[in-house]
Amino acid sequence: MSKSLTKREEDYSKWYNELVVKADLAENSAVRGCMVIKPYGYAIWEKMQAELDRMFKETGHQNAYFPLFVPKSLFEAEEKNAEGFAKECAVVTHYRLQNDPENPGKLRVDPEAKLEEELVVRPTSEAIIWSTYKGWIQSYRDLPLLINQWANVVRWEMRTRLFLRTSEFLWQEGHTAHASKSEAVAEAKQMQHVYATFAEEFMAMPVVKGVKSDSERFAGAEDTYTIEALMQDGKALQAGTSHFLGQNFAEAFDVKFTNKDGKQEYVWATSWGVSTRLIGGLIMTHSDDFGLVLPPKLAPIQVVFVPIYKGEDQLLLLSEKIQTYVSAFKKLGISVKYDDRDTLRPGAKFAEYELKGVPVRIAMGSRDLENNTVEVARRDTLTKESISQDNLVTYVSELLEKIQINLFDTALQFRNNHITQVNSMDEFKDVIENKGGFVAAHWDGTAETEEKIKELTKATIRCIPNDAIEEAGNCVFTGESSSKRVLFAKAY
Ligand code: AMP
Repeated sequence: MSKSLTKREEDYSKWYNELVVKADLAENSAVRGCMVIKPYGYAIWEKMQAELDRMFKETGHQNAYFPLFVPKSLFEAEEKNAEGFAKECAVVTHYRLQNDPENPGKLRVDPEAKLEEELVVRPTSEAIIWSTYKGWIQSYRDLPLLINQWANVVRWEMRTRLFLRTSEFLWQEGHTAHASKSEAVAEAKQMQHVYATFAEEFMAMPVVKGVKSDSERFAGAEDTYTIEALMQDGKALQAGTSHFLGQNFAEAFDVKFTNKDGKQEYVWATSWGVSTRLIGGLIMTHSDDFGLVLPPKLAPIQVVFVPIYKGEDQLLLLSEKIQTYVSAFKKLGISVKYDDRDTLRPGAKFAEYELKGVPVRIAMGSRDLENNTVEVARRDTLTKESISQDNLVTYVSELLEKIQINLFDTALQFRNNHITQVNSMDEFKDVIENKGGFVAAHWDGTAETEEKIKELTKATIRCIPNDAIEEAGNCVFTGESSSKRVLFAKAY
């Protein structure tokens, strides 16, 4: 057995990095800032993708695919967007290598093969997509255009962390076009709602829905709607964003439509995305000092059977029985694994499934065969129970639902206990330093104040919650009047 995990209390960030690697989710690669997602980690991503994809299609979207490269002239067309991403862009300048005459055995770019126009590796695809939409949209009959793309993007991040912030990441990006402002705003809000539903119902990760302040808004957007989650160490995680882009991209790419009155108008836009960062959020919402804790709805393996036996004969008898349950679970759509490896002792198998966060582990031994029982262990509470085999299938399928609910409830309680109202900068600093979590404070609405608070505390405005109550108050920093509280936190 490998050495146990660092405890969260000791060093949360070390615990996280170790867990990602030990649970076989991902590892660093030969490319700085880029990760290799291993099969177990990718299986979680596939489950996330499947649910999100279903939700996007249920809300009328279709998938399509656009190029990885964006010609620089297109990239710079929407100035604010280009400016916002410029520092993080990888750029292709050449299209061929050749033998280096000065360094035998080495290659160099062929100076003859310089691209006429440089290509930006997409950090986001508004530019390439809106330059394409120009050819697709002529009349109000072509609208709305509701498209999603599953893809990778590259943002040359300086400080990277597996899943949370990588230079290349996998995501989906929705890009929609509408005939009116109200329809586009409704779409952006709808997708924020879809993300929140996914986070809460599938990831069992409670989120605050809100809107970003000017300084945290997506470059080129009029409004950014966000879902913000709280991690166990008291730091916030921006888990997904949905942008109302106004007519900025339509104007930049000259995308107009003829309205019902025969007049030409610019098209209204949205874009929205969630990424492999969600896996980081999933880990930091539920996992413990023994390893991953996965919500059943996203666990690649929901139930694992471990036989406890001495000798071939016992194993044969147990296997026969266990296989009937494996088939019964499969029929119910439960993903189940039977681990009959004879190279590992049961204790080592238990530790492995604990580390990998399998929600339910069932152990069956010869005594269980005689008594018609099994031992069922829950990963979320680390409790074990001996139950009759008669109800096993129903018991376990109900247990999976219970675990899903318990994980959400526990995370919700933690989150709610970590939203603290403060009315002065002293209280603000005290909460951020000693308790963590979200601080609900009055703010005067200016970017200067936001920046000063960030300098003092490292906390930024995560969002202005959708459900913020109107309440007269004074900015914690300047004392200027304010009509509602916003949420600050240190963030990933
Ligand atoms: P954006 O297009 O900037 O709004 O990004 C959409 C979502 O992608 C964000 O809300 C993040 O959750 C996620 N994201 C942004 N940058 C990264 C990154 N470097 N690595 C992983 N996920 C990211």
